[in-house]
Parts: sequence; structure tokens; C-alpha cells
Amino acid sequence: MAFAVLSRANELESQGRKIINLGIGQPDFATPINIVEAGIKALKDGYHGYTPSNGILELREAVSENIFESYKAQINPENILITPGGKPTIFFSILMFGDNNSEIIYPDPGFPIYRSMINFTGAKAVPLVLNEKNNFEIEIDKLISLITNKTSLIIINNPNNPTGSFMDKEKITKLIDKLNEFPNIAILSDEIYSKIIFDQKKMPSFLEYESIRDRLIVLDGWSKTFCMTGWRLGWSVWPQSLIKHANKLCTNDHSCPTSVSQYAGIEALKGPQEEINKIVIEFEKRRNLIYQKLNSIDNISCFKPGGTFYSFPNISKTGLNGQEFSTKALEEHGVALVSGTSFGLSAKDFVRISYANSIENIEKGIDIISQINN
Ligand code: PLP
Repeated sequence: MAFAVLSRANELESQGRKIINLGIGQPDFATPINIVEAGIKALKDGYHGYTPSNGILELREAVSENIFESYKAQINPENILITPGGKPTIFFSILMFGDNNSEIIYPDPGFPIYRSMINFTGAKAVPLVLNEKNNFEIEIDKLISLITNKTSLIIINNPNNPTGSFMDKEKITKLIDKLNEFPNIAILSDEIYSKIIFDQKKMPSFLEYESIRDRLIVLDGWSKTFCMTGWRLGWSVWPQSLIKHANKLCTNDHSCPTSVSQYAGIEALKGPQEEINKIVIEFEKRRNLIYQKLNSIDNISCFKPGGTFYSFPNISKTGLNGQEFSTKALEEHGVALVSGTSFGLSAKDFVRISYANSIENIEKGIDIISQINN
């Protein structure tokens, strides 16, 4: 797991080892200063108490406007929940749809929380294997073949963690056309990397498709886009039939999201976006570098990620599996990576490399990685 790698890397650093961290799942940039100042102002202005459990109206309205600007989708602020980060949305939706008698389809490789939570509810976790041959995009026929009369929820994550794969509008439209044939199955679309997309492509949100709105949950938030992982602030859109229940879970679970983070969140959405745009350009530059450097190594191959700040090279030709490779990289060479096995049963031949680090460190890290062999 990324958190375990981080903690081991910290431990080694505290023993005096120099570690290049390419394991981390958060941007290496500070939160833009205008957002920080909005948080400080909220503290000074005395916003120290509970807020409504679904988040302050002003922020939900700002999210609704942002959704409209981005996707031309009209979402009532009443259907928006503000949560402490994106994770509660995963937790709540799987909790709602998972039980001993249901099956939930999730991407493999994928964010490990999906499978862990599905197992927790007693539901059958049904992996939708994403294939390197197919640039880790969803094979629609394969997805449809996994559906049974017990399938209660399908989880999609675009752009995808850990592979960096990005499916464009044409592909998503085909997928939705098929999903229209299964109107009783709920969909969780995890779009937390929606703003970190390269090659001038446009994010196709599931919110753009009215036909699935009555069973669609969309997760997004501030963590990755605005470099705000520690502020714990996420948003989600819920269908009319579920919003009341989701809101009750918020009240029972965490009462409300952190007050000052919400005021900072308004500034993030409504304030200047130049710094955020620059960060995405920087990530794209690093993506290009990492793609070129990894593919120049004899034993390693990597497809070109279309979004996120991850790449997912195949390291099987080194004679090591992902676990062995990442252990060797950290313990013997001081480079932190995450083994593909952390992200699913299908990914033992891969490691996840995060490029949330400087160009200089990425270059050094990959030079070191190029020497790892059995
Ligand atoms: N979904 C995916 C695919 C993620 O990679 C992450 C974080 O790494 C999250 C959701 C959760 O984000 P947050 O930190 O806002 O809870």
C-alpha cells in the first residue's frame, strides 16, 4: 500500500538514508496561497463550529456552478455532498450496495479501497481486469459479461489510479450506451483526477449523461486538483433516491466536513486558476519525461498515461515481480515505488511510479531503477 511505502521510506530517512520518493499519491506542490489565505481568514473570522452535515450551501452552490462550467450538467446543490476527502463517498456507496447477496464490479488494477470495502460488506468483489495490451482501458464487452442478476454496483475510475489510463468521451459514450441496458445497477464514477488530464483532452464526466443520473454517484474533490490532500475535502453528486441516506451517513459518521476547509474550497473553485493550470502543465512535462526514460530501458516497458500523476510500467522482464522489484528499489537503492500487487490481483508484473516529485529526482530515480535486475 502507498501509505505503508511512505511510512517505510520515512523510517529509512530517519535512519539517515537518502530516499527518492516516487511512491507518493499526492501532488508535491503546496496548496496555492490564495486558497491558504481563505482558510486563514475563515479561522480569523470565527468559523470554528459545526456546519450543516452536507456542507455549507455556498460551497455546494460553487460546486454546482463548477460542474455546469465543466460539463454543462445542471446539478441541484441539494444533490451535492461535501465530505472530508473523497474516500467517504467510496465508503458510503459500497456500504449502501454491498451485502452477502450482492456483487460489485470494480477495476483491477484499481484504488485498493474498493476491494477492501466490498469485502468488508460481505458482497462478492468482482474484478474487471484492465489490460496493458489495451492501455488499461475498460473493455466494454468484458465488463458486460461480468454482470449477473446479483450485480448491485459498478465502480469506474477515470482517469485511473494506478495506471494513469484515461478514457475519452467517445469511449465513455459507448460504455454508457451499454450501461443503459442495465437500469437497475447503480454506478459509482470516481473522477478524483478529473482535472489532471494531458494532450489537451477534455474530461468526459458521467454527469454529462442524463440517462443514468437516477442511479449515478460521482466522486470528485479538492485533494488532487488543488493540492489539498491534508485539508480533507471532497464532493460527490447523489441521485434523488439516495441523497437523504448519504446525508444521514455523513451526520452519523463525521457530523460535517471541516469548517475552514470548506471556505478554502470556495476560493479554490472561484478564485484564479492559473497556478493549477501550471501544475497540470508541469505534470504533463514529467509524464513525457518518464514515458521516454522508462521505455529506453531494456527490461522495462510502459504505456503513455493520459492523466493522473502515475505511470505503471511492466517490469516482468527484469526477472522480478512488482513486490520484489519495489522492495529491492527501496531497501537496496533508496527509491520508493508501490508494487502493482497493492492495486489488484492482476498487476503482479507492474509497479506504480508517481511523478509527484521534481524532474531532477525523477531522472535520478529512473536512472537507479534502470539498474535493478534479478
Ligand atoms: N479515488 C482515487 C482513485 C484515489 O486515488 C484517491 C486518493 O488517492 C481517492 C479516491 C481519495 O481521495 P481523498 O484523499 O480525497 O480521500
